[in-house]
Amino acid sequence: MNDQLLELVDELSRVGADAVQRGLALASGGNLSVRVPGADEFAITGAGTFLDRLTVDTYAVVDLEGRTTDPSSSVRPSSEWKLHQRTYRARPDVNCIIHLHPQYAVLLDALGHRVRFFTLDHAFYVKSIGRTDFYPNGSDELADTAALEAGNHNCIIMGHHGSSAIGPDIEMAYRRAVNMEQAAEATYRALLLGDTESEFPPEQWEKLHHD
Ligand SMILES: [Zn+2]
Repeated sequence: MNDQLLELVDELSRVGADAVQRGLALASGGNLSVRVPGADEFAITGAGTFLDRLTVDTYAVVDLEGRTTDPSSSVRPSSEWKLHQRTYRARPDVNCIIHLHPQYAVLLDALGHRVRFFTLDHAFYVKSIGRTDFYPNGSDELADTAALEAGNHNCIIMGHHGSSAIGPDIEMAYRRAVNMEQAAEATYRALLLGDTESEFPPEQWEKLHHD
C-alpha cells in the first residue's frame, strides 16, 4: 500500500472500532473499504476480521477487476468483496463503502416498513435509501443489485442482511451509515408509539438538496 492508502486505512480502522461500539456490527459481521480518489484499486477488510480489531495488516488490496494486487499480503479479502468492487465500478465518485449489519434498519425492512427521516441530519446525510431483496452473502446477485441501487442512492438496505453507506470519503460514508441506523431506530420507536406518518417536513427538503 502506498502512504496515501495507508493513511486512509488507518482512519477506516478507527471507524470500524466505533461501528462495533455503537452496535452497528457484531463480531466479524460487516466489512469496510476505501480507495485513494480516482485509484483503480481499493483496500478492504480481510475475511473474518473483527471490525474493532483492524490494523493495516488486516486489509487486502483488490483492483476493479477483482484481482488481489498485493503479492506480499496473505490476507484474503472479505467474502463480500464483490459488493465493494461492483459499487466502485458503478460510482467513480465513491471512495469509501461501509457495509454493516445494523439491527433496526434490517428489522424494519424485513417487516415491510420504510425507514423514515425525522431530523435534519437524517434528511441531509441519508437523503434516500435503496433496497435489495435477500441474496446469498458474497453472490454476484447481491453485488450487482446493490451496485444498481447505488446509481440512485448513497444508502442501501440489503434484505435480511445488512446495509451499505457510500460516500466521496470515509467521514461522509460513515455519517450516512450512523444516520441511516438512527433514522431506523427512530422509525421503530415511532411505530411502537403508534405513529405511522410523522417525518421531516417535506416542504423543507428543497432547501437541503440543490442537486
Ligand atoms: Zn454482510
